[in-house]
Order: sequence, then structure tokens, then C-alpha cells
Amino acid sequence: MTVLDRDELPEEPAARRGVPQSRQLHALLARGRAVLEDLFPGTNERLIASGALEMDLQSDLHWYLDGRLLRPEPSGLIGLAVSRPVVEAVIRSQVADMAEVTIMDGCDVTGLTSSSDRGRISGVRIRTRADGRNSSVLDADLVVDAAGRGAHTSAWLQELGYQPAPEESVRIELAYLSRFYRREAHHLGGRIGTAIAPYPGQNRSGFVNAQEGDRFMVTLSSCGGGELPTRDAAMAEYADSLVAPDVAEIIRTATPLTEPVLMRYPASVRRRYELLDRFPEGYLVIADALCSFNPIYGQGMTVAALEARLLQRLLQEDHDDLSRRFFTAVSELLDTPWSLIMSGDLRFPFVEGERSEGLLAMGEYLDRYRAAATHDATLATALIRVMNMVDEPARLMAPDLEARVRDAARAVPASDV
Ligand SMILES: Cc1cc2nc3c(=O)[nH]c(=O)nc-3n(C[C@H](O)[C@H](O)[C@H](O)COP(=O)(O)OP(=O)(O)OC[C@H]3O[C@@H](n4cnc5c(N)ncnc54)[C@H](O)[C@@H]3O)c2cc1C
Repeated sequence: MTVLDRDELPEEPAARRGVPQSRQLHALLARGRAVLEDLFPGTNERLIASGALEMDLQSDLHWYLDGRLLRPEPSGLIGLAVSRPVVEAVIRSQVADMAEVTIMDGCDVTGLTSSSDRGRISGVRIRTRADGRNSSVLDADLVVDAAGRGAHTSAWLQELGYQPAPEESVRIELAYLSRFYRREAHHLGGRIGTAIAPYPGQNRSGFVNAQEGDRFMVTLSSCGGGELPTRDAAMAEYADSLVAPDVAEIIRTATPLTEPVLMRYPASVRRRYELLDRFPEGYLVIADALCSFNPIYGQGMTVAALEARLLQRLLQEDHDDLSRRFFTAVSELLDTPWSLIMSGDLRFPFVEGERSEGLLAMGEYLDRYRAAATHDATLATALIRVMNMVDEPARLMAPDLEARVRDAARAVPASDV
């Protein structure tokens, strides 16, 4: 098995060009942590040895949803506060330790090669620094395209006479601005972090999360095309407009360690290969190249790990008819995280998309649910479990939770719900 990457891969954890989001805030959901451990036993231990911090996702991280603090109590759901370069470095070292794997870095994939009838992908065209302008061919029984959001899959398939996959997108027009600060014991009362999510009427959001090396990463964000400030005073002012003071506290009182880095994320995109009539054998598309999610939900690495585990299982079962089997199964896997994005982002009036009556009714229920979860720790934990992809969203509509939402609406003044 050969892993190809166009970047020169660093020995130590470091942000890199091929992964522009590596300079932005990342955290690992509880489910992602469990699945990575399953795929690569020992991952958790290695991440923690590299400085990752375990965090209870309800008490160590404060969540502000719809402008209200979700009741912070221990949930038993443990995620990891860790920078993206450390996650990559740990996984990469585990992959590199596998005897059957060769990693070729500094190697740009420029296209696909196929059988003469074009029914099967037979390898990739590659170009390394040493090749200059020439490219060579690497033969393969199976090519897995994990080239991220910028993958050239559609163009490569069209060159071979295939239709591009039907595409769904949810345009959120997000901007992210992240910066490291020195973390000291007194900051946030010693807590790991705070997530202040945007909601209709408030397109601004802010996040602060501890990272390895006694650092915080602070992220200011806007959706709907808003601009972000990059100077200290303006950043603090922006953070002041958020509902909780935590982000502004770090910007004002902690020492900045890096310059702020801006990144734009226009839309979540899902490519539906399972709907195509024709698709070549010997080729799969996975992770962000297949479906990329609004990063505010923090699902990307977890979904990528779930897809990898699905592929592992399918390959263990049988190698025949793999592309159809994979795209059908992965589509089912993606339905849940995609529905979370749809129902969350379509709350914003500027996001285009069909709002069915079912979706609106669900949205109205979830508004009341989130309000109730500011007082009711059980509701808050159930919500955090869904946000962490541990439970299905349908759990939030279960009779026991619905009753609690109803009771809370009676107990809490109407203005609060
Ligand atoms: C701002 C932001 C914040 C995020 N925060 C979180 C978070 O908190 N938690 C979370 O779970 N997820 C988060 N995500 C999502 C997460 O980063 C992605 O879902 C995840 O990295 C997807 O992995 P991937 O392998 O598909 O793509 P990538 O990680 O983007 O990797 C693609 C790789 O392909 C290589 N490559 C590309 N083209 C070629 C080529 N032609 N030839 C050779 N190599 C090539 C690149 O060099 C790169 O190494 C965030 C995303 C963004 C944008």
C-alpha cells in the first residue's frame, strides 16, 4: 500500500500547505477519538503523550447555543483538545510503522490511468520534484482519492468519459480567524475552553480551546460573509460582541504567540457518487473529497475516520463490486452528519435551501430543546452526545426527553425559552 502526498511531510507536528485548515482550530469529538483508537490502537495514549488534553465535552468545554450556556455538568463524554498538526503527526507515525505501507511525500497526483475500456482505474499519474515537468505512472489495484476539499476527482473522471457526481451544497459563507496564545493557570478559571456558536440574528461566533504546549487557540468566526478583524484591539472588540466574555478575556490578557490566520469556508459540499449510473471499478473517493462539513460542527475528522473504518470492513468482506458497495454504504453513513449541518445551517435566513414543513417543525422543537438544556443537564448531555455523533439525532425526540422539554417550557419563564 502506498500513501501519496504532494507536501513534503514534516518529521515533527507542523502546519503545512496542503492542509490550509491545519492553522485553524481543531478538536476531536468523543466518537472520533473512539474510532481512531479502533483503527490505530494506542492513538489516545500517543496523543496524550504529545500534549493533547482530555476534556469532558459538557463541563470542561462551555457551550453557548442560541446565546445561552448549555448546562455544564460532567457528561462522561471525553474528547481531545489538540492541535491539528499533532493529530496528523500521531496518525502518520502509526501508518509509517506499518510494514505494508510506503509513504511517498512530495508527490503530486496529476490524474488517473485506466484499462483500455475505461471500466477500471489502473493507477495514477504522479509527479515528484525530481520528475520536473514529466510525470510517471504508479499502477494500483485500488486508488482511494483522499485529496481533501480541493480534490480534482470530477475533472479526472470527466477526462475518462464519466459524469461528475451530483452535488449538494449548503452555502454558509464562513470565515475563521485563529491565533495561538500562551495559556496560564488563571485563564478561564483553569477550564479547557468555550464554544460560542452563531445563531439566527448573531452571525458572529468565537471559540477558545486549550492545546498542547500550554497554549490556547482562539478563533473568531463569522458566517454569512461577514469580515473579521486582525488587529488586537479590533479582535477584542469583536469578541466583546459575543454573549460570553471568555474569548475576549484571552485576547485581552494572554500573550499572543502567533499572527492571526484567516481562512474562508464557503460551503459544505456532498458529492453523491451513489447516484451515478456509471463509475469505474478500482477507484473510491473518501473524506472531504467526498463530503466536507461546515467546520463549526467539528465533525470532519470523525466522519473521515468512520469512512475509513467502513472501507476496512468492506475490503475484509469482499473486493468485488467495491465502488457500488462503498458509495451506497458511505451515503447512509453521511446522512446523519449531513442532516445535522442542514438543520443547523438552514436556520440562517441567508442560507439557500429547501425548508420542508418537517424541517421547520423539527427546528422549532430544537429551539425549545436547546433553551431547556440550559437548565436541564440530562437534556444537555443528550444533545452533546448527538453533537459528538455518539447517538442518532432521533434520540432527542424520544418520549422521555420530549417530556423534559415540555416540563421545562412550563417551569421556565416564556422569555427564557
Ligand atoms: C477551518 C476548519 C476547521 C476544522 N475544524 C475541525 C475540527 O475541529 N474537528 C474536526 O474533526 N474536523 C475539523 N475540520 C475538518 C477537517 O479538517 C477535515 O474534515 C479533514 O482534514 C478531512 O481530511 P481529508 O484527508 O479528506 O483532507 P485533508 O486533511 O485536507 O488532506 C488532504 C491531503 O491531500 C493532499 N493532496 C491534495 N491534493 C493532492 C494531489 N493532487 N496529490 C497528492 N496529494 C494531494 C494534501 O497535501 C493533504 O495532505 C475543520 C476544517 C476546517 C476548514
